[in-house]
Amino acid sequence: MFKNLKGKTVFITGASAGIGEACAQAFASAGCHIILTARRTKRIEELKAELDQQYPDIRTLAVTLDVTSKEAVDQVVTNLPADFQSVDILINNAGLVLGLTPLADYPVDQIDTMINTNVKGLIYCTQAFIPRMKQAPRGGHIVNVSSISGREVYPNGSVYCATKHAVDVITRTLRFELADSPIRVSSINPGLVETEFSKVRFEGDQQRADQVYAGMTPLTGSDIAELAVFITSRPAHVEIADTLILPHGQA
Ligand code: NDP
Repeated sequence: MFKNLKGKTVFITGASAGIGEACAQAFASAGCHIILTARRTKRIEELKAELDQQYPDIRTLAVTLDVTSKEAVDQVVTNLPADFQSVDILINNAGLVLGLTPLADYPVDQIDTMINTNVKGLIYCTQAFIPRMKQAPRGGHIVNVSSISGREVYPNGSVYCATKHAVDVITRTLRFELADSPIRVSSINPGLVETEFSKVRFEGDQQRADQVYAGMTPLTGSDIAELAVFITSRPAHVEIADTLILPHGQA
Protein backbone atom coordinates (compact mmCIF):
# COMPACT_ATOMS: atom_id res chain seq x y z
CA MET A 1 0.00 0.00 0.00
CA PHE A 2 2.85 2.39 0.84
CA LYS A 3 5.26 1.12 -1.79
CA ASN A 4 5.74 4.55 -3.37
CA LEU A 5 7.46 5.68 -0.14
CA LYS A 6 10.22 3.10 -0.50
CA GLY A 7 13.62 4.77 -0.95
CA LYS A 8 12.39 8.27 -0.09
CA THR A 9 14.23 10.34 2.52
CA VAL A 10 12.38 11.79 5.50
CA PHE A 11 13.68 14.60 7.75
CA ILE A 12 11.97 14.57 11.15
CA THR A 13 12.22 17.30 13.78
CA GLY A 14 11.64 16.29 17.39
CA ALA A 15 12.47 12.65 16.62
CA SER A 16 13.74 11.88 20.13
CA ALA A 17 10.32 11.11 21.63
CA GLY A 18 6.59 10.73 21.16
CA ILE A 19 5.10 11.42 17.73
CA GLY A 20 8.46 12.15 16.08
CA GLU A 21 9.96 8.89 17.28
CA ALA A 22 6.86 7.00 16.12
CA CYS A 23 7.15 8.70 12.71
CA ALA A 24 10.74 7.49 12.44
CA GLN A 25 9.61 3.93 13.11
CA ALA A 26 6.66 4.13 10.72
CA PHE A 27 8.57 5.67 7.78
CA ALA A 28 11.47 3.26 8.32
CA SER A 29 9.07 0.32 8.13
CA ALA A 30 7.77 1.79 4.86
CA GLY A 31 11.32 1.60 3.47
CA CYS A 32 12.31 5.28 3.83
CA HIS A 33 15.73 6.62 4.74
CA ILE A 34 15.45 8.63 7.94
CA ILE A 35 17.13 11.80 9.25
CA LEU A 36 16.46 12.01 12.98
CA THR A 37 16.86 15.42 14.59
CA ALA A 38 16.28 16.74 18.11
CA ARG A 39 18.22 18.39 20.92
CA ARG A 40 18.75 15.17 22.92
CA THR A 41 21.61 13.58 20.99
CA LYS A 42 21.72 10.36 23.03
CA ARG A 43 18.06 9.62 22.38
CA ILE A 44 18.30 10.02 18.62
CA GLU A 45 21.55 8.04 18.49
CA GLU A 46 19.87 5.20 20.37
CA LEU A 47 16.90 5.34 18.02
CA LYS A 48 19.26 5.33 15.02
CA ALA A 49 20.97 2.19 16.38
CA GLU A 50 17.57 0.54 16.87
CA LEU A 51 16.44 1.37 13.32
CA ASP A 52 19.76 0.25 11.83
CA GLN A 53 19.34 -3.12 13.47
CA GLN A 54 15.64 -3.46 12.59
CA TYR A 55 15.85 -2.18 9.00
CA PRO A 56 19.29 -2.96 7.53
CA ASP A 57 18.16 -1.88 4.05
CA ILE A 58 17.60 1.78 4.92
CA ARG A 59 20.04 4.59 5.72
CA THR A 60 19.63 6.56 8.95
CA LEU A 61 21.30 9.68 10.25
CA ALA A 62 21.05 11.29 13.70
CA VAL A 63 21.80 15.02 13.89
CA THR A 64 21.52 17.19 16.97
CA LEU A 65 19.32 20.18 16.15
CA ASP A 66 17.58 22.88 18.13
CA VAL A 67 15.01 24.24 15.70
CA THR A 68 14.83 27.60 17.50
CA SER A 69 18.15 28.58 15.92
CA LYS A 70 17.85 29.57 12.26
CA GLU A 71 21.61 29.40 11.96
CA ALA A 72 21.66 25.82 13.29
CA VAL A 73 18.80 24.74 11.00
CA ASP A 74 20.52 26.21 7.92
CA GLN A 75 23.83 24.67 8.89
CA VAL A 76 22.37 21.18 9.40
CA VAL A 77 20.41 21.26 6.15
CA THR A 78 23.31 22.66 4.12
CA ASN A 79 25.76 20.14 5.52
CA LEU A 80 23.70 16.99 5.09
CA PRO A 81 25.92 14.16 3.82
CA ALA A 82 25.74 13.50 0.08
CA ASP A 83 23.48 10.45 0.39
CA PHE A 84 20.96 12.41 2.51
CA GLN A 85 20.93 15.59 0.41
CA SER A 86 17.72 14.87 -1.40
CA VAL A 87 14.97 15.10 1.21
CA ASP A 88 11.51 14.12 -0.04
CA ILE A 89 9.48 14.58 3.14
CA LEU A 90 9.84 17.08 5.98
CA ILE A 91 7.95 16.27 9.17
CA ASN A 92 7.76 19.53 11.14
CA ASN A 93 6.96 17.92 14.46
CA ALA A 94 9.15 19.55 17.14
CA GLY A 95 6.93 21.37 19.59
CA LEU A 96 6.02 21.79 23.20
CA VAL A 97 3.55 23.21 25.66
CA LEU A 98 4.66 25.01 28.81
CA GLY A 99 2.71 26.31 31.75
CA LEU A 100 -0.91 26.59 30.69
CA THR A 101 -1.51 29.75 32.68
CA PRO A 102 -3.87 32.74 32.40
CA LEU A 103 -2.37 35.13 29.85
CA ALA A 104 -1.98 37.90 32.42
CA ASP A 105 0.41 35.74 34.43
CA TYR A 106 2.25 33.86 31.65
CA PRO A 107 6.02 33.86 32.33
CA VAL A 108 7.81 35.49 29.43
CA ASP A 109 10.38 32.72 29.10
CA GLN A 110 7.61 30.15 28.55
CA ILE A 111 5.90 32.39 25.99
CA ASP A 112 9.16 32.87 24.11
CA THR A 113 10.08 29.17 24.16
CA MET A 114 6.71 28.08 22.79
CA ILE A 115 6.67 30.70 20.03
CA ASN A 116 10.33 30.12 19.14
CA THR A 117 9.90 26.33 18.92
CA ASN A 118 6.37 25.79 17.63
CA VAL A 119 6.25 28.70 15.17
CA LYS A 120 9.69 30.07 14.37
CA GLY A 121 11.35 26.64 14.40
CA LEU A 122 8.78 25.31 11.96
CA ILE A 123 9.26 28.35 9.72
CA TYR A 124 13.07 28.00 9.74
CA CYS A 125 12.93 24.30 8.78
CA THR A 126 10.36 24.96 6.08
CA GLN A 127 12.42 27.82 4.63
CA ALA A 128 15.51 25.62 4.57
CA PHE A 129 13.81 22.92 2.49
CA ILE A 130 11.55 24.81 0.06
CA PRO A 131 14.31 25.81 -2.41
CA ARG A 132 15.72 22.27 -2.43
CA MET A 133 12.35 20.58 -2.85
CA LYS A 134 11.46 22.98 -5.71
CA GLN A 135 14.52 21.76 -7.59
CA ALA A 136 14.14 18.09 -6.67
CA PRO A 137 13.03 15.82 -9.51
CA ARG A 138 10.48 14.16 -7.20
CA GLY A 139 9.34 17.41 -5.55
CA GLY A 140 8.61 17.25 -1.85
CA HIS A 141 6.03 17.02 0.89
CA ILE A 142 5.92 19.15 4.05
CA VAL A 143 3.83 17.80 6.92
CA ASN A 144 3.20 20.16 9.80
CA VAL A 145 2.20 18.60 13.11
CA SER A 146 -0.31 21.09 14.45
CA SER A 147 -3.01 20.28 17.03
CA ILE A 148 -6.70 20.47 17.77
CA SER A 149 -5.43 23.60 19.56
CA GLY A 150 -4.89 25.05 16.08
CA ARG A 151 -8.66 25.10 15.67
CA GLU A 152 -10.02 25.53 19.16
CA VAL A 153 -9.14 27.46 22.30
CA TYR A 154 -9.42 26.73 26.02
CA PRO A 155 -8.77 28.69 29.21
CA ASN A 156 -5.06 29.06 30.05
CA GLY A 157 -4.09 27.79 26.61
CA SER A 158 -3.73 31.18 24.92
CA VAL A 159 -0.07 30.91 23.94
CA TYR A 160 0.00 27.26 22.92
CA CYS A 161 -3.27 27.67 20.98
CA ALA A 162 -1.87 30.80 19.33
CA THR A 163 1.22 28.90 18.20
CA LYS A 164 -0.83 26.07 16.72
CA HIS A 165 -3.28 28.49 15.06
CA ALA A 166 -0.16 30.07 13.55
CA VAL A 167 0.98 26.66 12.28
CA ASP A 168 -2.36 26.15 10.56
CA VAL A 169 -2.21 29.62 8.98
CA ILE A 170 1.31 28.89 7.73
CA THR A 171 0.18 25.55 6.28
CA ARG A 172 -2.77 27.11 4.46
CA THR A 173 -0.71 30.02 3.16
CA LEU A 174 2.06 27.72 1.96
CA ARG A 175 -0.45 25.69 0.00
CA PHE A 176 -1.21 28.83 -2.05
CA GLU A 177 2.41 29.81 -2.37
CA LEU A 178 3.49 26.35 -3.49
CA ALA A 179 0.51 25.51 -5.68
CA ASP A 180 2.60 25.90 -8.85
CA SER A 181 5.50 23.92 -7.42
CA PRO A 182 5.99 20.16 -6.95
CA ILE A 183 5.74 20.57 -3.16
CA ARG A 184 2.68 19.35 -1.28
CA VAL A 185 1.79 20.71 2.14
CA SER A 186 -0.34 18.94 4.74
CA SER A 187 -1.19 19.37 8.36
CA ILE A 188 -2.08 16.86 11.04
CA ASN A 189 -4.13 18.18 13.93
CA PRO A 190 -4.14 15.61 16.74
CA GLY A 191 -6.26 15.61 19.85
CA LEU A 192 -4.94 13.93 22.99
CA VAL A 193 -1.88 11.79 22.35
CA GLU A 194 -0.18 9.96 25.21
CA THR A 195 3.46 11.12 25.08
CA GLU A 196 5.94 12.91 27.35
CA PHE A 197 4.13 16.06 26.28
CA SER A 198 1.01 14.85 28.13
CA LYS A 199 2.97 14.70 31.39
CA VAL A 200 4.25 18.23 30.94
CA ARG A 201 0.83 19.55 30.02
CA PHE A 202 -0.69 18.65 33.36
CA GLU A 203 2.45 19.39 35.38
CA GLY A 204 1.80 16.42 37.66
CA ASP A 205 -1.82 17.46 38.33
CA GLN A 206 -3.27 13.95 38.20
CA GLN A 207 -6.80 15.09 39.05
CA ARG A 208 -6.84 17.43 36.07
CA ALA A 209 -5.35 14.75 33.84
CA ASP A 210 -8.00 12.26 34.96
CA GLN A 211 -10.73 14.79 34.17
CA VAL A 212 -9.39 15.43 30.68
CA TYR A 213 -8.85 11.73 29.89
CA ALA A 214 -12.14 10.58 31.46
CA GLY A 215 -14.03 8.18 29.22
CA MET A 216 -11.47 7.98 26.43
CA THR A 217 -8.36 6.13 25.37
CA PRO A 218 -5.77 8.69 24.21
CA LEU A 219 -4.14 8.33 20.80
CA THR A 220 -0.61 6.94 20.57
CA GLY A 221 2.32 8.38 18.65
CA SER A 222 1.89 5.49 16.22
CA ASP A 223 -1.67 6.56 15.42
CA ILE A 224 -0.30 9.92 14.25
CA ALA A 225 2.69 8.38 12.48
CA GLU A 226 0.46 6.01 10.49
CA LEU A 227 -1.57 9.01 9.34
CA ALA A 228 1.63 10.80 8.27
CA VAL A 229 2.63 7.72 6.26
CA PHE A 230 -0.80 7.55 4.64
CA ILE A 231 -0.82 11.27 3.73
CA THR A 232 2.63 11.17 2.16
CA SER A 233 2.07 7.94 0.29
CA ARG A 234 -0.77 9.28 -1.88
CA PRO A 235 -0.06 9.77 -5.60
CA ALA A 236 1.55 13.11 -6.51
CA HIS A 237 -1.74 14.70 -7.61
CA VAL A 238 -3.37 14.07 -4.19
CA GLU A 239 -2.80 16.67 -1.47
CA ILE A 240 -4.46 15.85 1.82
CA ALA A 241 -4.75 19.37 3.15
CA ASP A 242 -5.50 18.88 6.81
CA THR A 243 -6.55 16.10 9.10
CA LEU A 244 -8.13 16.29 12.53
CA ILE A 245 -7.42 13.04 14.40
CA LEU A 246 -9.02 12.55 17.81
CA PRO A 247 -9.41 9.78 20.32
CA HIS A 248 -12.97 8.51 20.17
CA GLY A 249 -14.91 10.47 22.78
CA GLN A 250 -12.88 13.70 22.60
CA ALA A 251 -15.47 16.30 21.66
P1 NDP B 1 7.02 14.95 23.15
O1 NDP B 1 7.26 15.86 24.30
O2 NDP B 1 6.93 13.49 23.37
O3 NDP B 1 8.07 15.24 22.00
C1 NDP B 1 8.40 16.56 21.61
C2 NDP B 1 9.58 16.51 20.67
O4 NDP B 1 9.90 17.85 20.30
C3 NDP B 1 10.80 15.91 21.33
O5 NDP B 1 11.42 15.02 20.43
C4 NDP B 1 11.70 17.11 21.58
O6 NDP B 1 13.04 16.72 21.44
C5 NDP B 1 11.29 18.02 20.44
N1 NDP B 1 11.64 19.42 20.68
C6 NDP B 1 11.17 20.25 21.63
N2 NDP B 1 11.79 21.45 21.54
C7 NDP B 1 12.67 21.35 20.52
C8 NDP B 1 13.62 22.23 19.94
N3 NDP B 1 13.80 23.47 20.39
N4 NDP B 1 14.36 21.79 18.88
C9 NDP B 1 14.20 20.54 18.41
N5 NDP B 1 13.33 19.65 18.92
C10 NDP B 1 12.58 20.06 19.96
O7 NDP B 1 5.65 15.50 22.51
P2 NDP B 1 4.72 14.97 21.33
O8 NDP B 1 5.36 13.89 20.58
O9 NDP B 1 3.38 14.76 21.91
O10 NDP B 1 4.65 16.31 20.45
C11 NDP B 1 5.04 16.37 19.10
C12 NDP B 1 4.21 17.42 18.41
O11 NDP B 1 2.84 17.04 18.49
C13 NDP B 1 4.30 18.81 19.02
O12 NDP B 1 4.38 19.78 17.98
C14 NDP B 1 2.98 18.96 19.78
O13 NDP B 1 2.57 20.30 19.86
C15 NDP B 1 2.05 18.15 18.89
N6 NDP B 1 0.84 17.67 19.53
C16 NDP B 1 0.88 16.82 20.63
C17 NDP B 1 -0.30 16.40 21.21
C18 NDP B 1 -0.32 15.51 22.41
O14 NDP B 1 -1.41 15.36 23.03
N7 NDP B 1 0.76 14.88 22.80
C19 NDP B 1 -1.60 16.82 20.69
C20 NDP B 1 -1.53 17.68 19.55
C21 NDP B 1 -0.36 18.08 19.00
P3 NDP B 1 14.27 17.25 22.34
O15 NDP B 1 13.74 17.59 23.68
O16 NDP B 1 15.23 16.11 22.33
O17 NDP B 1 14.79 18.41 21.58
